[in-house]
Amino acid sequence: MVTEEKKTSQDKKRYYRKRVRIFNLIDKIKLWPSRTGQLHGIRSMEIMGGKARLTTHCSKQFFINDSLNSRAGRWLRNKWFVNVCPQCAVPDWKLEKYSSTLFRRHQGSMLMNTDKED
Ligand SMILES: [Zn+2]
Repeated sequence: MVTEEKKTSQDKKRYYRKRVRIFNLIDKIKLWPSRTGQLHGIRSMEIMGGKARLTTHCSKQFFINDSLNSRAGRWLRNKWFVNVCPQCAVPDWKLEKYSSTLFRRHQGSMLMNTDKED
């Protein structure tokens, strides 16, 4: 039992950096792909421990966690989206940013090496 607890605590430490980074990433691009692949513009983000609450321009709320191995993490890594939320009216330059700038070079590789099973 003691061993298990210790292991969990080490895992948490190990993931801390990644967690900070995905939140930073979202804070930068201000975009979030919903479960259906609709890309929303983020109005605000509130970090609460290992989770963050995103509020979109269309007043939807999403609770996200630290994992880049989640569905959304995969969408972000691959720069996928099905469509853009009409209410959020994400401008073209933001989509451009989403699909190119932020994912180049070291920032891209940061995301790539977490590519595990969902
Ligand atoms: Zn929206």
